[in-house]
Amino acid sequence: MAAWEAGDEGGGRKVCIASPSVVKGEGTGEGKERDSGGANPCAKQNMEERGSPDGDPARNLEQGPEGPETPIQVVLRVRPMSAAELRRGEQSVLHCSGTRTLQVSPPGGGPDVAFRFGAVLDGARTQEDMFRACGVRRLGDLALRGFSCTVFTFGQTGSGKTYTLTGPPPQGEGVPVPPSLAGIMQRTFAWLFDRVQHLGAPVTLRASYLEIYNEQVRDLLSLGAPRPLPVRWNKTRGFYVEQLRVVEFGSLGALMELLQMGLSRRRSSAHTMNQASSRSHALLTLYISHQTQMPPVDPGEPPAGGKLCFVDLAGSEKVAATGSRGELMLEANSINRSLLALGHCISLLLDPQRKQSHIPFRDSKLTKLLADSLGGRGVTLMVACVSPSAQCLPETLSTLRYASRAQRITTRPQAPKSPVAKPPQHLETELLQLQEENHRLRSQLGQMDPKASGLIGARVAWAQRNLYGMLQEFMLENERLRKEKRQLQSSRDLAQDEQRILAQQVHELERRLLSACYLHQPGPGPAPPCPCVMVPPPPCHALPPLCPCPCCHLCPLCQAPLAHWACPRRELHLPQVWFLQRQTS
Ligand code: ADP
Ligand code: MG
Repeated sequence: MAAWEAGDEGGGRKVCIASPSVVKGEGTGEGKERDSGGANPCAKQNMEERGSPDGDPARNLEQGPEGPETPIQVVLRVRPMSAAELRRGEQSVLHCSGTRTLQVSPPGGGPDVAFRFGAVLDGARTQEDMFRACGVRRLGDLALRGFSCTVFTFGQTGSGKTYTLTGPPPQGEGVPVPPSLAGIMQRTFAWLFDRVQHLGAPVTLRASYLEIYNEQVRDLLSLGAPRPLPVRWNKTRGFYVEQLRVVEFGSLGALMELLQMGLSRRRSSAHTMNQASSRSHALLTLYISHQTQMPPVDPGEPPAGGKLCFVDLAGSEKVAATGSRGELMLEANSINRSLLALGHCISLLLDPQRKQSHIPFRDSKLTKLLADSLGGRGVTLMVACVSPSAQCLPETLSTLRYASRAQRITTRPQAPKSPVAKPPQHLETELLQLQEENHRLRSQLGQMDPKASGLIGARVAWAQRNLYGMLQEFMLENERLRKEKRQLQSSRDLAQDEQRILAQQVHELERRLLSACYLHQPGPGPAPPCPCVMVPPPPCHALPPLCPCPCCHLCPLCQAPLAHWACPRRELHLPQVWFLQRQTS
């Protein structure tokens, strides 16, 4: 194997990621064969590279969340022996056989163990080989179509994760990585810009970059000094980082600057196994949205569209082996804890009963932010990195075991929402009519029942989402408003009838009461004249008496016609005693 000082721009050999994965070895589901070619976009790409006439590789993914399950694609990279390891006379225990199988030969003559992955690249392979073999361009294409894609590196500290993603650590302030050593990220950025230019449709590109350091999320693109940001969850977005800065960029140069800014702010330290060991997990996310897509409802939310996220995990480390003390040890412990949580989630995701079992994504910030990539609706590529040295064998075996298990995890990539098309003319007209009717009904209802006007606001947010949604919403709401209006009208009619009956009863009672008062009025002398005859009855628009019998139409005293008892001016005719009784009651 070549030592890494050799420099590594090579001949650009092409490695195909095969669709079936056969994994042999400890705890890896020995001999299990899985055909992932049907739904797996990465596998499909390789079919395309092999000349498969299978057509659109992402076609099957557009069936929605209930669509095909897509396994996590795993690519293994074995870094070359370092100069220091060679100087110490350490032996390599890893051998690649073919492009997909890794043989582990334990020192002391134990039996070889074989692991099989989508692709295996040894230490002689260049950064360009890695970029071409890992299938990241397929993820880029899927992200352009609206899928949420993740590439993450996994492995022991010093195994080459950061190198694979972003190239060797900067050799000085502002010194860029030589093009031949640029990692998957820079190469994907360049490829993406090229792709976008050839798309012919305007695309908006934005980026965020964060690190998880000692279980705190820090914004690597923040304008001021990074401060811890909360990780929240909601139904539509899943887990997300609140107040994370998302920067729009228009050129490859601007994106490279954002990457450099983040890399220079990211925490790294030297220890015995790595001179520039990352002390945090870093997540750079590209948000890709087409201009036909609706703007976000919430202003703090990234626009609807695809995502391509690069995750550079901090490596697991044995504190004794790295010689970490003090702050370094604290960092190592929190790195190990979050990697343990990740490993635990991976194990549970493999559980066939997983639909019933709870996956503890909430156990760490890292697992929260990777939840969608691991068990959700994303398309995921894992790049497992290992060191060939015999000294690292226990850690290497552990990485190989996790990587083997990870490729049996499936996600259910969510079909991208189709861009908002212009609605047909008749729908627009119908929408306008419904809107008008809605407005009219609301104002009528507001007049009839003041409480009804408060019904408005709550549904407006939903209705704003899209034209078809609005149409449906207006139809439903108009139907509801019509029903409510009918109910209010009939209860108003009922109330009016009741009022009329009560008025009649009051008149009748007044008449009876007055007659009674008149009859029992004490005092000597002749009885006062009956009120019926005192004044001639004025023209009266009285209601008919309650009882239709003829006696009720006549005064019980003088038998005069009683039409004026119902007259509004009837109180003028009532005796004083009646008024006094009324005022005190
Ligand atoms: P990790 O991120 O896994 O802790 P690094 O990416 O920082 O490890 O790599 C550790 C060291 O090994 C760095 O100096 C890096 O340049 C070197 N290295 C890793 N992989 C390779 C490779 N494939 N070729 C050459 N050098 C490598
Ligand atoms: Mg690193």
